[in-house]
Amino acid sequence: TALLEATGVAVEYHRTGAPPLRAVDHADLTLNRGEILGLVGESGCGKSTLGRAVVGLQRTAAGEIRFDGRPVAPLGLRRRPADLRGLQMVFQDPYASLNPRRLVGDQVGDGYLLGGTSKAEARRRAGELLERVGLPADAVKRYPHEFSGGQRQRIAIARTLAAEPSCIIADEPISALDASAQASVANLLVELVRELDMGMVFISHDLSVVRQIADRTAVMYLGRVVEVGPTRQVWSEPAHPYTKALISAVPRADGAGVLPVELPGDVPDPSRPPGGCRFHPRCPVALPSCADDDPPLTILRDGRSAACVLAK
Ligand code: SF4
Ligand code: MG
Repeated sequence: TALLEATGVAVEYHRTGAPPLRAVDHADLTLNRGEILGLVGESGCGKSTLGRAVVGLQRTAAGEIRFDGRPVAPLGLRRRPADLRGLQMVFQDPYASLNPRRLVGDQVGDGYLLGGTSKAEARRRAGELLERVGLPADAVKRYPHEFSGGQRQRIAIARTLAAEPSCIIADEPISALDASAQASVANLLVELVRELDMGMVFISHDLSVVRQIADRTAVMYLGRVVEVGPTRQVWSEPAHPYTKALISAVPRADGAGVLPVELPGDVPDPSRPPGGCRFHPRCPVALPSCADDDPPLTILRDGRSAACVLAK
């Protein structure tokens, strides 16, 4: 079985005086053990919402999510059942996820206390973790504001590791960091995933980073996953016209490729998605039938899937 499996997931935001916004609609996602899955798409396409849904931080309107074969119910992180401790999230803004008034060592050690470890032991192991993520040994006795953005993200990662996760959902974990810290924090995450044999969903609008680190890439458009496959193949031979457009926007040499991309028209209002294939108003190769037929994500070949009538 897959480490994490989401099928037909929908998430709705309810707003007064407006129709509900389906931020995620019929999204499917599978993460295997030891794998890095890049999740890309334009801002507002629902990647963060899907990420929050699969860890149970977001109520779902439809669909099924399983972690290690067990259903994930939408609950706050603190009330999560013990068998979901292995499923953890790393957020974009490390500072917001740390308590400014508590010592770093205590915050990292909390994860061990939940597992029933003594306080002294938790503190000692917190120190080890902080060293593992590349922070000085005295970091345990310092406060979050004493660290740079990149170091704070390392602290947040150490705190996540204390829960001994087998699966991490990282939502734009390097986007808020300065350029020099971005590569080193991304490398740290990759190293940890390999070393601890975890799975990671790496949500990013930065296509060049995803291309470098992800084993497989999933592309989202307007709340749905429209293509998934081995990263090298998705890039060399995209099956979905939207993926083609995304990839053509990545500059070849300097790797500065960042969404949004140039496509005809604007991203449609997600509260009123187009009928038929959601991409049809912007699709350069749309058929007349695309205005009516909504193609599901379909398995093609070589571990590829795409949601397009033309994808073979
Ligand atoms: Fe384009 Fe039609 Fe494929 Fe949608 S189904 S991506 S509109 S060709
Ligand atoms: Mg986001």
